[in-house]
Amino acid sequence: MAVPTDPRAAWGLPAPGTLPRTAELEPLVTRVLAPNPSPMTLDGTNTYVVGAPGSGQAVLVDPGPDDPAHLAAVEAVLAARAARCVAVLVTHHHGDHAEAALPWGARLGAPVAAASGDVAGPAGRLLAPGERLTLAGTAIDVVGTPGHTADHLAFRLESGAVLVGDHVLGRGTSVVTHPEGDVVAYLESLRRVHDLGPSALYCGHGPELTTDPGAVLEYYLAHRAHREQQLLDALAAGAGSVDELVAAVYADVPREVWPAAAQSTRATLDKLAADGRVELTGDGRVRPA
Ligand SMILES: [Zn+2]
Repeated sequence: MAVPTDPRAAWGLPAPGTLPRTAELEPLVTRVLAPNPSPMTLDGTNTYVVGAPGSGQAVLVDPGPDDPAHLAAVEAVLAARAARCVAVLVTHHHGDHAEAALPWGARLGAPVAAASGDVAGPAGRLLAPGERLTLAGTAIDVVGTPGHTADHLAFRLESGAVLVGDHVLGRGTSVVTHPEGDVVAYLESLRRVHDLGPSALYCGHGPELTTDPGAVLEYYLAHRAHREQQLLDALAAGAGSVDELVAAVYADVPREVWPAAAQSTRATLDKLAADGRVELTGDGRVRPA
């Protein structure tokens, strides 16, 4: 199986660390970059301020870390839009997306909405895939995208852009967490977003993807299939544990992301075991079935 080619390599995307702190992506959407860069969060978490210009209202999507400088930047964008925050939406429960949701919701007087009750809080609103929210002068469709986590949602805007959280990243590929994540659900979620024909993907981390969003989703699907084949090849070559598989398959990625690679590997082995292609033995070993 040939190594899939990442279409973004030819797009001239901004280099890591060069994203502006705030950027108007389209009239409906301003992005505010949080100051929490890391190997897992790339440039930092992207917080999105969404609302129809002139509506006097806006929604925050993924407020991110509860950081005073980030809050000041978000409040400056709300002020520039002359908009009051009417809701805080969260893609999934990971702290780099959700930590500020309840404190900022309380400060701004806005309810928190998410798929998980822990994130939405006792006064919040539970979101279900398929529902349409009418907020801040615009319609926002809630798209179920489980896989990275069980509670993951994406939000489709009237413009056709989709806010994808950690389902798709602006650079590289995402992680299917273990044991919460689910590779089969993740692949279905990639196809679901692809079928929406998104005009743009606004990612939880990294730059916006506007050139050919469908090609990125196809690359993500091909990348997962390739990793699966690499694991089977490494097993056939004698690797017999998750650590040995990660060392063989992820030799080309920095070691600081190997713990995440191990989670994706465990999640993929669960899928291969369900497919009857590998056997997981009780002592932490794995072998071809
Ligand atoms: Zn996440």
